[in-house]
Amino acid sequence: MIKLALYPGTFDPVTNGHIDIIQRASELFDKIVVTVARNLSKTPLFTTEERVFLLKESLKNFNNVTVDSFDGLVVDHAHSVNACAIIRGLRAVSDFEYEFQMALMNRKLAADISTVFLMPNEKYTYLNSSIVRNLSQFGSDVSEFVPNVVQDALIKKYAVK
Ligand code: ADP
Repeated sequence: MIKLALYPGTFDPVTNGHIDIIQRASELFDKIVVTVARNLSKTPLFTTEERVFLLKESLKNFNNVTVDSFDGLVVDHAHSVNACAIIRGLRAVSDFEYEFQMALMNRKLAADISTVFLMPNEKYTYLNSSIVRNLSQFGSDVSEFVPNVVQDALIKKYAVK
């Protein structure tokens, strides 16, 4: 049986930290579905379609990774794609409490799905999408933190804002 894992997130936009986690997960599972959360209380900078496009472009070289989006509960989407695991990234202790709570709630909702936490290379532990958005908004070079296609999209987005 194929072992498939779901990697859910906002990905607004995808960073090299996310890609580090996807790389590690793709070596542990047969298939990874990276899934963009549509239903958010916060308003993302990039639309769902843009976030999916940027992920697809950034993950072209992974042959066992696909990208989609979802509405509603992560565990429902995990069941719909036959995932046995949910992947989450842990950067620092500050991520832990929220992630721990979510993992336990998801286990209560779906006992057949385990949450697997992966730690990125330490150079990505301080990186998140909101820092990248802030830097880019003020014209900083973010090429070290995101794929080229994302950097170009950020420049375009802030040029028209
Ligand atoms: P969410 O809104 O679900 O937290 P994000 O796109 O911010 O969505 O993050 C998705 C997942 O990726 C989360 O588990 C988050 O901890 C992890 N993540 C985000 N940035 C990094 C990074 N630099 N290194 C490792 N994991 C990360």
